[in-house]
Amino acid sequence: MPKLLLFDIDGTLIDSHGAGGSAILDAAEEYFGVSRAKLPSLQLAGSTDPAIAMDVFGHVGREPDREAVFGFLDLYLTHLTRRLKAADFSGFMLPGVVDLLNALGQEKDAHLGLLTGNVRRGAAIKLGHHGIFDRFLDGGFGCDHHDRNQLGPIATQRMQAATGSTYATSEVIIIGDTPKDIRCAAAFGAKCLAVATGDYSAEQLAELNPWRTIESFADVPATVKLLLSEV
Ligand SMILES: [Mg+2]
Repeated sequence: MPKLLLFDIDGTLIDSHGAGGSAILDAAEEYFGVSRAKLPSLQLAGSTDPAIAMDVFGHVGREPDREAVFGFLDLYLTHLTRRLKAADFSGFMLPGVVDLLNALGQEKDAHLGLLTGNVRRGAAIKLGHHGIFDRFLDGGFGCDHHDRNQLGPIATQRMQAATGSTYATSEVIIIGDTPKDIRCAAAFGAKCLAVATGDYSAEQLAELNPWRTIESFADVPATVKLLLSEV
């Protein structure tokens, strides 16, 4: 049976060194004319882009209707692209990511998709910056729903359409770095491999009872074995 492996992006595959958060604040300043210093700190880790945008709308007292939220996110994507291109941008791929994707790419029973709060274009911009967006066939994205817990079935359906395979929920593994990834997996009965390369420690993640917790992907053979294990 093929395994469906759905990867989160920020804190799991890459660290964009604050480019995403900065681009949201750039967009807030341009769209609403507010100073970033006036905004409270935003809950970014694990949140979808529309949820973050709706949070900003709430802080400035504006109605977050769908058209306005996506207009705001268009502006965010322009700033994201600019920030990633900046000479002093120091984002990076997390340990073992390239080797892990190469190794999984050799496994016919590993089907790679994304499950991320980024809107699809944001995912393409962030992963494309590191040349790894085309490693993933499809997935669920923040533009599909502002509630991450709704994205599992959407990602699974898209991957089924892309591969022609059918995945039992027990064969779906969500790989992510935050409590929100763990809850998202639990919301549709999938497993979660929690990886402590983001803002949360392995201990903090393990407290939420994901299927497995690892420090990083640095041990690539062990990670591949774990992801393809029958347990
Ligand atoms: Mg993340």
